[in-house]
Amino acid sequence: MDPRQSQGRTVIRAGRVIDPSQSIDRVDDVTIVDGRIESVGPAAERPDRTIDAGGLIVCPGLIDMHVHLREPGGEEQETIETGTRAAAGGGFTAVACMPNTKPPIDNVDTLRAVLDKARSGAHCRVYPVAAMTVGQRGQVPVDMPALKAAGAIAFSDDGIGLDDDRVARAVFDRARPCDALLIQHCEVAALSAGGCVNQGRIAEQLGVAGIDPRAETEMLARDLDLLRGSPVRYHVAHVSTERAVDLVRRGKAEGLPVTAEVTVHHLALTEDAVLRQGANAKMKPPLRTEADVAACRRGLCDGTIDCIATDHAPHTAEAKERGLRDAPFGVVGLETAWPVSWGVLVETGRLDPAGLIDRMSCQPARILGLSDQGTLAAGTVADVTMLDATASWVLSANSLISKSNNSPFIGRHLVGRCVATLVAGVCRYVAEGSEGRFAQPG
Ligand SMILES: [Zn+2]
Repeated sequence: MDPRQSQGRTVIRAGRVIDPSQSIDRVDDVTIVDGRIESVGPAAERPDRTIDAGGLIVCPGLIDMHVHLREPGGEEQETIETGTRAAAGGGFTAVACMPNTKPPIDNVDTLRAVLDKARSGAHCRVYPVAAMTVGQRGQVPVDMPALKAAGAIAFSDDGIGLDDDRVARAVFDRARPCDALLIQHCEVAALSAGGCVNQGRIAEQLGVAGIDPRAETEMLARDLDLLRGSPVRYHVAHVSTERAVDLVRRGKAEGLPVTAEVTVHHLALTEDAVLRQGANAKMKPPLRTEADVAACRRGLCDGTIDCIATDHAPHTAEAKERGLRDAPFGVVGLETAWPVSWGVLVETGRLDPAGLIDRMSCQPARILGLSDQGTLAAGTVADVTMLDATASWVLSANSLISKSNNSPFIGRHLVGRCVATLVAGVCRYVAEGSEGRFAQPG
């Protein structure tokens, strides 16, 4: 990012400013000076440039703590450049990227290579998550202090559950002294092996093997037990079952240091989507039942589940065309996260707009320890998203910025769209047709 572009005074004029971190929800101006927020309030001085936010929501930049950028090793699916361009297009100013690359991010050199690529070519902030175990093989814990010092934001073997109880204990023990955040992909391999959709009705109807919901809950229950013994910052990735929501709820009630995320697709779709979308609705954990979706929504609204993530997992069309049984797991999500969540949660009255922004910006910032983000407080970095909550559109495969288009929402009618994304005051995305909102006063 070119810091020179962010110098001077920018005023985002007359938007509906929503900043849950300061309980702000009113029409106002936001002034940015040299890449930092100066104030939320009527702009005093003459700016170097203005952005007309009339009719738009102006909020702290969205943060996605679960993204697969695929680089290194999966560049035919996505790169740091294309993935972060898709992120900025979806309103995200920061993403945490998962370490299941080729090679995996399990050592300082690979971590530095990702950070270097991000520094030179990313369109938003990139926070690499390092592996929990060497090679993500679930046997030997990585050198957490060294990786953390080099910039790992958290540790996860995402894509694979940490099956071995003794190794799990060793990983927890290693995380504690360096205050590392662990992100667990809860999946007991023996209970999911061979499955490609949720166990039950749809699996039977299609004649494919199912994934037992206990694959998720058994590992989560074990981890909560480990936390009881000696606490460590622990985050559950992509909660998908009613029972997992209950386990997190009880863990929090006990005071355990557990946080949780739910993906947009687990909030929006039941296992029935597999019948319509085929392999583009195949992911881990799988789409579940209506009762599970309802529990995830309730959990998110009552604070049991802290935040929304995308688990953006690009795959080539060729790979997804192998069919439900053989296609890889995962769906893209960065560009649809805001409108789909808006439709499922805000339009239905489950959350107000501030509640949604809280779960897509403030909470992920808090969990990741990004104290300068998820807020429009004076003095913090000017990571700002401008959203049109009325734009109505239909998602088509070729409209996606991401290098891959394996979305379960293709053809879906969406309401809401990102109009502009500013990172440290620099505009990293402007929606087509919105360029006229940007002006340099003469
Ligand atoms: Zn995962």
